[in-house]
Amino acid sequence: MAVPKKKTSPSRRGMRRSHEALRAEAYVECGNCGELKRPHHICSHCGYYDGREVVPSGKTLKSAVYV
Ligand SMILES: [Zn+2]
Repeated sequence: MAVPKKKTSPSRRGMRRSHEALRAEAYVECGNCGELKRPHHICSHCGYYDGREVVPSGKTLKSAVYV
């Protein structure tokens, strides 16, 4: 088994972890109802996408992503 020759210093460890931060979730306002939704996704609130109703309102998509 390969074993590191030297202990990783706190500085090195920090440099490695500088890329591990989580990004803020992307969201946009729905053009139809104003609810927050994921960009390029059907609105989970009103079922609209690109100005038209894709999923009848009241019904919830099984695979819908809620923001
Ligand atoms: Zn909507």
